[in-house]
Amino acid sequence: MSDYTISAIGHIQSPYKQKFAIPRQPRLVPEAKAKLIFAPDFNREEFVRGLDEFSHIWLLFRFHETADKGYSAMVRPPRLGGNARKGVFATRATFRPNAIGMSAVKLEGIEYKNGQLSLLLAGIDLLDGTPIIDIKPYLPYSDSMPEASAGFADTRPETHMSVEFTPEVLNFIAQQTQYPDLQAFISNVLKQDPRPAYKKQKDGQQSYGMTLYNYNICWQVNESHNLVTSIENT
Ligand code: SAM
Repeated sequence: MSDYTISAIGHIQSPYKQKFAIPRQPRLVPEAKAKLIFAPDFNREEFVRGLDEFSHIWLLFRFHETADKGYSAMVRPPRLGGNARKGVFATRATFRPNAIGMSAVKLEGIEYKNGQLSLLLAGIDLLDGTPIIDIKPYLPYSDSMPEASAGFADTRPETHMSVEFTPEVLNFIAQQTQYPDLQAFISNVLKQDPRPAYKKQKDGQQSYGMTLYNYNICWQVNESHNLVTSIENT
């Protein structure tokens, strides 16, 4: 084995401030907007000239939050209810050799503001602060394979979960004019049912919390029904 040194070319500013509740793949929650902030060595428009011709890009990144926890040869994919084990290379698990992840996301714009180059992204599945190690344009003629089969992950995860908000929460959200998609964002995050598999098997009402942007959000789950009960500034 050879060793290589890889340096981040930038990092992600994301509304997801903790791992819990981040969707398991990109584009499942289209309202998840983020910025890729280029590091000083790459903070020049030349690096992205022509990228605006592409609607989607690949991000290669480091699972920085969990990288120091190592990896296992076999993991338990959440898709299989946490019961069956698969080889790590047959999954998109975060705990993997080299801790490298890849996500195809929407490129909504390129910004050069106050001397800082950034990409405006949507549909991300990345934690705030995630280091980006490369960017490549998504090439539909080669990267899209409608005939591909994908075994235990063949279909988009189904969401049977409904989401409602208390009137107080809706009132608070209506005042957050800087995030016009906030209600749809929260709703689509919860429809992914972020609960760990073992909690899903439990009966009765359960309460959870997450942080999106600068909001602490609490909700209750009863069978397939979510009720968002509180939202406040962090
Ligand atoms: N699309 C990527 C891939 O296939 O390589 C990531 C898939 S991984 C299953 C997605 C999960 O990674 C998210 O639900 C979140 O919990 C976790 N995650 C996102 N950013 C991370 C980071 N910087 N460090 C560790 N875990 C992260």
